[in-house]
Amino acid sequence: MTKTFSVKIGNISVGGGAPVVIQSMTNTSTQHIKETADQIIELHNAGAKIVRITVNNADAAKATPYIKELVQKHANIPIVGCFHYNGHTLLNEFPECAKSLDKYRINPGNMGFGEKRDIHFESIIECALKYNKPIRIGVNWGSLDKKVLSQMMDENSQNKIHLSSEEIVENAMVESALMSARKALRYGMSENQIVLSAKTSKVQSVVRVYKKLHSLSRFPLHVGLTEAGIGLPGAVSTAAALSILLSQGIGDTIRCSITPKLGESRIQEIKICKAVLDALEIERFQPKIAACPGCGRTSSTYFQKLAEDVQNFIDCSMLQWKAQYQGIENLNIAVMGCIVNGPGESKHADIGISLPGSGEEPVAPVFINGKKQYTLRGDNIANDFKDIITLYIQNNFSAKK
Ligand code: SF4
Repeated sequence: MTKTFSVKIGNISVGGGAPVVIQSMTNTSTQHIKETADQIIELHNAGAKIVRITVNNADAAKATPYIKELVQKHANIPIVGCFHYNGHTLLNEFPECAKSLDKYRINPGNMGFGEKRDIHFESIIECALKYNKPIRIGVNWGSLDKKVLSQMMDENSQNKIHLSSEEIVENAMVESALMSARKALRYGMSENQIVLSAKTSKVQSVVRVYKKLHSLSRFPLHVGLTEAGIGLPGAVSTAAALSILLSQGIGDTIRCSITPKLGESRIQEIKICKAVLDALEIERFQPKIAACPGCGRTSSTYFQKLAEDVQNFIDCSMLQWKAQYQGIENLNIAVMGCIVNGPGESKHADIGISLPGSGEEPVAPVFINGKKQYTLRGDNIANDFKDIITLYIQNNFSAKK
């Protein structure tokens, strides 16, 4: 598979075979320096490797270098400025902002009209060249370049085979991204300074757009659904889109653009991205627990409680384990409800427990590396099993130096 170009964003490499990078974006008012810096650090601690901030007015532009300074005291994470409509003005009027950002995100659909659009675009590219910053050309179907779209609509009406309006929009998105990239190259940027994205809010549509972009260029791609939605539907749609694309080697950075519920932490989107990378085995973040859904053969809800208990045990211990043991995230555990799949699934795991289903003898065999090693019984099965997990980790994972 042809590698994408490698782009350096601050201390992070994107594309060119580098690991997939999780991105996020703050939702604070950028002029609130401390609040914004705190959220960047929170996102970074949760696993974001690049964080974008809105730079929409003079106050936000003035705040940017201070945010960077504050963040750098705690974390070395690239900060990207998100510009719409007035990026050319802000980057030129506030050079400290332009210098402090690690990448400029620009949207070809929001750069003005007519001749001005090209002038604004060129002005941003000049800043990027002056301060040696990469750019992301981020097309979004909610703000698609109208000139490109109407041109494609006209061409379509003259063609014998008519495309659907959705197909025209998708083609226009791809063309808008590539046309802007070609323009940026013409103005002097190198291929190692450009990242592309072209997001829609529909899974199949975003997959078609990114497959086309990937087949037509070697620029690294920032992948995700835009405006993915709230809660579970948003998370599932994002996971579906990312899974299809990442499985085909498409996507160098990812984001889960879900709407947080009121009071919900911003890091939820990071957790979803990590879960996707974990599930696809692109990057493991924490031990995996295989647990059965339960059925009429389960004797009680005990196995559900045990699965949850083990999950909580892992969640609470992970910070300490990660600091102590190498590769701990690759541990596989099984918590199963009866003899049907219990022993089999447990043998596939590093450590597995098969709880007794209805009518079975009230004992729980525990399998270690595929072999039955213990038989637990009585009221203390949960604690005994967690002790076995701890012992397994001590004996099988080497200590970090
Ligand atoms: S392992 Fe047993 S309890 Fe679990 S779902 Fe399968 S049959 Fe049901």
